[in-house]
Amino acid sequence: MASDERNYERQRGADERFLDARLGTICIHAGDAPQGPEPHPTVTPVYQSTTYYFDRATGMEEFLCGKRDGFAYSRWGSVTNAALARAISSLVGDGATITTASGMAANFAALQAAGLRCGKTLLASREIYGNTYDIIRNHFEPNGARCLFADFNRITELERLIQTERPDVIFFEVLANPTLSVIDAPRVIALAHAGGAKVVVDNTFATPYLYHPFMEGADYETHSLTKYINGHGDALGGSITCRPGEFGALESIVCTQGCVLSPDNAQMIMRGLKTFSLRMRQHCANAAALAAFLAARPEVTNVRYPGLPTHPTHGVAKQLFRAGEYGGMLCFDLREGDKEDAFALIDALRLVTPAGSLGDVKSLIVHPSSTTHHGLGAEEKARIGIGESTLRVSAGIEDAEDLLADFGQALETAR
Ligand code: PLP
Repeated sequence: MASDERNYERQRGADERFLDARLGTICIHAGDAPQGPEPHPTVTPVYQSTTYYFDRATGMEEFLCGKRDGFAYSRWGSVTNAALARAISSLVGDGATITTASGMAANFAALQAAGLRCGKTLLASREIYGNTYDIIRNHFEPNGARCLFADFNRITELERLIQTERPDVIFFEVLANPTLSVIDAPRVIALAHAGGAKVVVDNTFATPYLYHPFMEGADYETHSLTKYINGHGDALGGSITCRPGEFGALESIVCTQGCVLSPDNAQMIMRGLKTFSLRMRQHCANAAALAAFLAARPEVTNVRYPGLPTHPTHGVAKQLFRAGEYGGMLCFDLREGDKEDAFALIDALRLVTPAGSLGDVKSLIVHPSSTTHHGLGAEEKARIGIGESTLRVSAGIEDAEDLLADFGQALETAR
């Protein structure tokens, strides 16, 4: 094994002590390891130092030549961030992980690392987070990349596009934002690789609790750690996991651009991660209960939750996801409703917080058309199913009865 590969594995690869462990155990233990002499802290502390030094002058040279492990300057790596990176590699299933300042920094750097630049072609799913759409349209495209969008649920059409357009990079979210379409990731990855494209998958919505695109062959798996993995709405962060052979190029992009995670946030996210598996169970159960409740209400229509047999991609969700669990996100429309009706419902809710994030312990609601996806044109919104009364809910981990009661009273009040 080359010395630089060993360095990545020790610092950013899956924690070999927990290779056979289950998810809940990985969440609690992976990444935490003794860093110095006894006695050891039980959790990884915040290493609040920009710079590291070695006892002898030869140390730095040996480190920079890849002959020894360590850190030199925290834009290029630090103890706390490396511990989180190892935990994420363990969660994702393998590979080498770099943490980033946010989920957007992760998507941006992953697309660059996958080779998207002037003269190259991207084929992306239409159903992606609004800001990811924005960087594709407002950064990559004006800089000379050819950027195409398609409905990734239409596999035959997608296959034809891959053959005719020969994309260099393919990008999608497994569980799409905000429509909750589940993309047949194994088929898309196989088609992309057959056509010679690199695949970047944003797994923020599905999370490693439900699905593992990297283990299915994706070249880059990205996460907004801000969401379910941290889960407490108090730290921004992102991650990219790739094969060790691609890690050097990825690291160079992230570290020279400087979009690195702060060690405080790394530690907050490691703390959140410890209860990730436990929280996901409740997120999934609450979202399922809420979806069933809303689907039965006369004021509501078009409830989109992959756990409902009526959802167009329920079959794919059943094949891909953990048995009987379908995630914590759902969206719905108000019957004959418009933007004002949607706003009235938001204002009538007492427990559910009107905030534009997701994956938080608190239940959150947003109006995608005017918030997360406001950058899209009317035609594009309509095409992916975002209407003027569409509302997206991130089910928190409150007691389900209280959530249903809140929606019940709000629907009555706003009526
Ligand atoms: N990916 C998805 C699917 C998201 O929903 C978001 C944010 O909502 C992001 C990426 C960006 O994450 P961050 O806000 O951490 O930059």
